[in-house]
Amino acid sequence: MRKILLAAAALLCACRSEAQPQAPIPTGAPKLMIVISVDQFSAELWNEYRPQFTGGLARLASGMVFRNGFESHAATETCPGHSTILTGDRPARTGIIVNSWVDQSAARADKTIYCAEDETVPGSSSSNYTVSPRQLKVPTLGELLKARSPSSRSVAVAGKDRAAVMMGGHRLDQRWYWRRTGFTTDLAGVATPVTVTRVNAAFAAALAQPRLPLDPPPVCAAKAQTYTIGKGKIVGNGRFARAANDVSAAEDSPEFDGAVLALAAGLTQELGLGRGTAPDLLAVGLSATDYVGHSFGTQGQEMCLQLLSLDRDLGDFFAMLDSRGIDYAVALTADHAGFDIPERVPGGSWVDPSLNADTVGKAIGAKLGLSGPVLLGGGYSGDIFIDRGLSPTDRAKVREEAMKSYRSHPQVEAVFTREQIAATPLAITTPDRWTLLERLRASFDPVRSGDLLVVLKPKVAPYPKEFGIASTHGTPWDYDRRVPIVFWRPNIAATTRDDPVETVDIMPTLAAMIGVPLSPGAVDGKCLPGVTVCPVAGAVAAERGKR
Ligand code: ZN
Repeated sequence: MRKILLAAAALLCACRSEAQPQAPIPTGAPKLMIVISVDQFSAELWNEYRPQFTGGLARLASGMVFRNGFESHAATETCPGHSTILTGDRPARTGIIVNSWVDQSAARADKTIYCAEDETVPGSSSSNYTVSPRQLKVPTLGELLKARSPSSRSVAVAGKDRAAVMMGGHRLDQRWYWRRTGFTTDLAGVATPVTVTRVNAAFAAALAQPRLPLDPPPVCAAKAQTYTIGKGKIVGNGRFARAANDVSAAEDSPEFDGAVLALAAGLTQELGLGRGTAPDLLAVGLSATDYVGHSFGTQGQEMCLQLLSLDRDLGDFFAMLDSRGIDYAVALTADHAGFDIPERVPGGSWVDPSLNADTVGKAIGAKLGLSGPVLLGGGYSGDIFIDRGLSPTDRAKVREEAMKSYRSHPQVEAVFTREQIAATPLAITTPDRWTLLERLRASFDPVRSGDLLVVLKPKVAPYPKEFGIASTHGTPWDYDRRVPIVFWRPNIAATTRDDPVETVDIMPTLAAMIGVPLSPGAVDGKCLPGVTVCPVAGAVAAERGKR
């Protein structure tokens, strides 16, 4: 009898956990909402290192963990990924389809537009750009929060400008990002906080000193196997030693996130975030995991040292907030995941350099007797643009030849036309079940997208080996799409969930948490029940007009 009762109780528990969380959902808005993006932090890395975390990431792991999160769109790059997190919209709606796209009508010679720039500013170029949220087509949570409660502050800090721009949006109180010599801002009329001056001075002083190699704990030392990539570059056993004033080495190391978190902590104190009557929002973009991945890969000693250091630094950051008695909640995710060096991946390969769009275009031009670039875009996959200077007849011929050429290559999975992608309905299933075309549709913009979209086969790194880039991302495959999505606040029930959710779900979830109403359908994402009390459909429809 007891066994039957236990079995029945177990069944009851299973039903309860399906239907509703076992602990009460925290209610009421936190005073400070912190949203952290760890650049290139894959779900695989989160799951692999989770048992090793003892600091800030361990604290977050005690919250609600979606270990099957998705940057659901195809173009898994930094700018599109960051554009989803606090807008609640996929790139097809944010307009941020890739980091840089070709605009053949642009006045500049390279016809390339950077995602976080204002190309209309005289003197601006795609390489020396004027930082701006101009390209972002939708508002962020911070903007909606400030519209609803003007005394709320919205602050964004990040290693990369595009992370701070895409998470902060068009109107915010402070935005700071790293630019070689210090943290800077694009916001006019904002007095520089003392914290920024102090952190810049402290980081410059640290940079002026050489850094001794880090001492790897056994879990990291066990990964110290070397591989050679690029032009004789050895990766796998790095320990982040650097020479004095080697800025690039500092950026590609745990030091970098430490500086961003020091800035975030200082600004929280100086601006009194979380101390007002209305909720404040702090977006933090931690870029070093991406830089470490690109420099050394994801499965070596270097990434191990980086993630354990990030765990410690986040622990210090949260401890500071605790010591100040700030009522805060945290959401953490990533802008995309990543693919390790092919040498460490069974079945992995580097892309064939002959797949470069310029090379393919030249061959087609020669065959058809056409001069000029013929194909633009410059990459080895993704958006390919056909020269608009050609006649419609020649463009059609080029398109046909390009499709034939790409499709005949053994590393190419598929080639789609812009018409095929545009005609694809938006996906309505969970992101783990999306077709390739549905992933591409979520990255499609009718003006900014290319004429053809080339998809490489799985496990083909999208840059040639000679480039010396270790880990990569940008493909529509799940190893680039799957990211952790984690929510923490005091008293949240520790839960790990396997249901596939999207980074666009973060914004409507946090909007519900801090009392920013959204009309149904206003954003692509959905409020995640169990993290907070989600609004009943239709209850807030009258509150706001369509965004
Ligand atoms: Zn990134």
